Formats: sequence, structure tokens, C-alpha cells
Amino acid sequence: MEELRIQGSRTVFRPGKLVCVGRNYAAHAREMKSALPSKPMLFLKPASSLVGGQDGQILLPPESQDVHHEVELVVVLGSRLRHARPEQAHEAIAGLAVGLDMTARDIQQRAKESGHPWSVAKGFDTFAPLGPIAVADIRQPRRISLNVNGQPRQEASTGDMLFPVADLLAFASSIFTLEPGDLLFTGTPEGVGPVVDGDFLEARIEGLPPLDITVRRPPSTGRSH
Ligand code: ZN
Repeated sequence: MEELRIQGSRTVFRPGKLVCVGRNYAAHAREMKSALPSKPMLFLKPASSLVGGQDGQILLPPESQDVHHEVELVVVLGSRLRHARPEQAHEAIAGLAVGLDMTARDIQQRAKESGHPWSVAKGFDTFAPLGPIAVADIRQPRRISLNVNGQPRQEASTGDMLFPVADLLAFASSIFTLEPGDLLFTGTPEGVGPVVDGDFLEARIEGLPPLDITVRRPPSTGRSH
């Protein structure tokens, strides 16, 4: 994804860093048998993991046999934020989109056990599918859901987040300067699970453009790691 376009405007951003939040819905933290965080738990995905829903596909890497879907509300930054207060954070938002934080759960589990970072588990190419970006009110709680092959897998309200978006942006901006075009993935609700070759994913957030994308496992090229 070379650039990010805000629907209905001429505004175009170059995608910068993808700041992501773990365990931001209590029911998901429970299903992962993880403790609730006392402050936002952040990690990064590379911009090279972004893929659009239009002609894009999620490509399953040969390194993983257990890639999971995580549907998430994604916030697109429109202006710079540094050491922002929560009250200032909303003004920096250019738009919202539905996205997927694809995760190689087997690699992540091994990383957790050995205290290693999640960069590989979260960072493969096509591991950050993103729907069209719309201007929308961040204060409104919205239904968020994911169907796989027509079957409901995840459903919640963005109002269930442990840390609301303003708090996430304020906290993240105390560590990273957030730049226009940076993305904030705000965490996934419960119901995460594996995807396989041929699956069709429908990610939805009420009031935002939909994200439809298929999963493909490319034939093995014989490369080894
Ligand atoms: Zn996630």
C-alpha cells in the first residue's frame, strides 16, 4: 500500500508506523489467558504489512501453520502528536477504518515463552489488511464484527475497549511522536481464531466502509529458513 486515501477528500498520506495495542478488550484478554494491563500494551507492525481489501489477499507464510484473524478499529493520524493529553488527541484523527491484525499464533506463542518480541509473529507481508478510510466520529461506540465464510467469529462494541482511543493516542504519543499517516490498531475483541487457504473474511465496523479479503497459502517455493 503506497498511500492512504481519506474517502471523500483529496487528502493522501504515506503510511508510516503501525502502532498496535494488545489486550484492549477484557474478554479477549481472558480467552488468551492474559492478565488485564494497567496501562496500554503497545507493539509495532511494519508499514510493509499493509494490504488493501480491493484486490489484496492475505498470504499465509510457510513459517506458520496457525495464522489468526484479529478484527480491529484502526485510527489514521492526520497531524503530529507528541506528549498529547487525551483531550487533544481527537483533533489529530484524520479518519477511521476497519482493519485486521493478522497474527501467527504459533510463532507468537513461542516468542511469549522465550521472552522474545512479536515482530515476526505480527509483521509478515499482508498481515495488516486495511479497509477504506472514512471521516467518522471516534466518540461513537460502534458494532465491530468479523465473519469467515459467512460464519460469525467475532462481534463486540468498540465501546468495550479497556483504554479508549483518546487515552491510547495520548499514551502512545508519550513514547513515539505520531506523524500524519501513522496508524493506531486499537486491539481486538474476543473470538480470534485460525484462517486457512481459501477463507473469505468480511470485517465490519458500523458506519465505516467494509473490508472483504481472501486468504491464500502460496505454493511452496522451496525456500528454507
Ligand atoms: Zn491485535
